[in-house]
Amino acid sequence: MRSIKKIVATLALGSTFLTASAAVSAASGYVGIAMPTNSSSRWISDGHSMVEQFEKAGYKTDLQYAEDDIPTQLAQVENMIVKGVDVLVIAAIDGTTLSNALENANAAGIKVIAYDRLIRDSEHVDYYATFDNFKVGVQQATSLVNGLKTRFQPPYNVELFGGSPDDNNAYFFYNGAMSVLQPLIDSGEVKIVSGQMGMDKVGTLRWDGALAQSRMDNLLSAHYTDKRIHGVLSPYDGLSIGILSSLKGVGYGSADMVMPIVTGQDAELPSVKSILAGEQYSTVFKDTRELAGVAVGMVDALLKGSEPEINDTSTYDNGVKVVPSYLLEPVPVDASNWQPVVVNSGYYTLKQVKNTQ
Ligand code: BGC
Repeated sequence: MRSIKKIVATLALGSTFLTASAAVSAASGYVGIAMPTNSSSRWISDGHSMVEQFEKAGYKTDLQYAEDDIPTQLAQVENMIVKGVDVLVIAAIDGTTLSNALENANAAGIKVIAYDRLIRDSEHVDYYATFDNFKVGVQQATSLVNGLKTRFQPPYNVELFGGSPDDNNAYFFYNGAMSVLQPLIDSGEVKIVSGQMGMDKVGTLRWDGALAQSRMDNLLSAHYTDKRIHGVLSPYDGLSIGILSSLKGVGYGSADMVMPIVTGQDAELPSVKSILAGEQYSTVFKDTRELAGVAVGMVDALLKGSEPEINDTSTYDNGVKVVPSYLLEPVPVDASNWQPVVVNSGYYTLKQVKNTQ
């Protein structure tokens, strides 16, 4: 009897019920989180850290992964807008394809935070939470040069890999790295044997490891049949693993063919293990828990009507505006410091790192 009464009351008060639930949603907040892919562990960690921290702070979340497919991500974002989220947190697959979706978000009064990757060509990007991406590139190239000096004699034969050309970060990583490498190329200490330089030549669409592996295969057969390669600038662990397979495939890493210095980014588990095994030389750790914390703080401030904390107002011009940003510090990782950085910080357990299964 009581439950029938309740149903009748709910039906009779249909519109009031909707208004009441909207009020509850505005008070506590509903956050749409659009992540690029769960084929890379860093984005899984980003998504899970955000959900955990948002829920702890009392927010409801809708977390979606788009498997690196642009139309899928667009549909997910549009769907979140229809579902009535208060804020969108988006790590774009292609930073230039979201303009229309963000027009719709703006029309619905939804705030937008670009997460890790800048969303370009839209005025409706309110804030940007990321790492110091130029510094990531500087750290990668610095580690490459230090490694070359400890393992080989100059001049050093090096090849360059870039990230996905539709990801704004890829240019920051590349430019940061080149700020270190260009003077050494100019002085002749570093030789880019293939001559392939510039993001238009070395970019790797969708950060695809298989693509990097086949480009490395081609570089080795076209330019290194009569000489050894000493170093590879790789901007992401998923590419590094592909590059290392290619190198191992022609014998590098054996007693008479010293493994070249290969860099990386994200401290993904296979790469940390590879560093321990003496294959990949280094990576760059970006604590996704901290980045999630920055995004959660931004959303919380926005929904409470205060100003999110930022520490950069000049770097990230998205083509329409300079997006106010918060940049976190990346940390270079190699065989000398993996344990304090990725284990003692609680990012991985020692068992995860040591487990060779
Ligand atoms: C991120 C990197 C990541 C790459 C591939 C970039 O936008 O900043 O951390 O390695 O995407 O997922």
